[in-house]
Amino acid sequence: MDLTAEREAGFIAAGENATMPDESQKKECIACRKNTDEVPLFSLAYRGSTFWICPQHFPVLIHRPADLIGLLPGAEKLRPSEIED
Ligand SMILES: [Zn+2]
Repeated sequence: MDLTAEREAGFIAAGENATMPDESQKKECIACRKNTDEVPLFSLAYRGSTFWICPQHFPVLIHRPADLIGLLPGAEKLRPSEIED
C-alpha cells in the first residue's frame, strides 16, 4: 500500500496522530493554536526547533515574552524589547 498516495488523497491526516513525536512541527500559533487555514504564521527558529506564531501574538513575543512561558520552551530567557525615544 502506498502511504504517500493515501496521505496526498486526504485519507491520512498528517499531524493528527497523537503519537507524533515532534509537536513543534505542527504549523499552528504557539499562543492561540490557529493554523495557516485561519491566519498567516511567522516561523521562529529557536533552540534548534521551528515554532509558529500569528500576527496577533507576534507583538507578545516582542514586548511580553514572559506571557509565552509554558508555550514557547525557553521563553523565560527572552527579554522584552522596549522602545523608548
Ligand atoms: Zn496566535
